[in-house]
Amino acid sequence: MSEQMEVIWMTENEGDTVRLAQLLAGWAVPGTVLALDGDLGAGKTRFSQAFAAGIGVPGVVNSPTFTIIKEYKGAQLPLYHMDVYRLSEDEADELGLDDYFFGDGVTIVEWASLIEALLPPDRLQMYITHLGDEARRITITGIGAQYVTWCKQLQAIGARNK
Ligand code: ADP
Ligand code: MG
Repeated sequence: MSEQMEVIWMTENEGDTVRLAQLLAGWAVPGTVLALDGDLGAGKTRFSQAFAAGIGVPGVVNSPTFTIIKEYKGAQLPLYHMDVYRLSEDEADELGLDDYFFGDGVTIVEWASLIEALLPPDRLQMYITHLGDEARRITITGIGAQYVTWCKQLQAIGARNK
């Protein structure tokens, strides 16, 4: 088992989610994998859009629900944005996702838990829970040494902002 660390990140509004995404975008490297989960309307796509902007993707990033995977050329890094809501694990297996996960860019997967068996062992998991109109609780789990370091950094920043 890889080492793990969990951080709870409270957002009071969309701007807080945007700021979290931009912070994480600054830490991203080739091969970074973010696994997002949470109800419809929780903010998975909104987070992805802000993250995309943070790695220099120009223009609009939409939900890839119908296309499954969209690739973007970011100024800093490529982005592979996936929404696997409509896929079975067998169908996802045939897409050869490892080419994305271990590729040159950042992969963000919406509804990642549906294909959990296909995800790389090391990743940042984010579970977004609706608390109200604009309030969300984001449960962030870093799996593997690199993402545990991210969680430690988040915890330090969170403590400073209290
Ligand atoms: P999902 O991809 O999880 O289905 P979306 O990102 O498409 O959800 O939609 C989230 C909606 O919630 C957006 O309309 C966004 O403006 C709104 N919203 C309100 N508060 C927040 C918040 N704290 N974080 C993210 N989105 C929020
Ligand atoms: Mg979405």
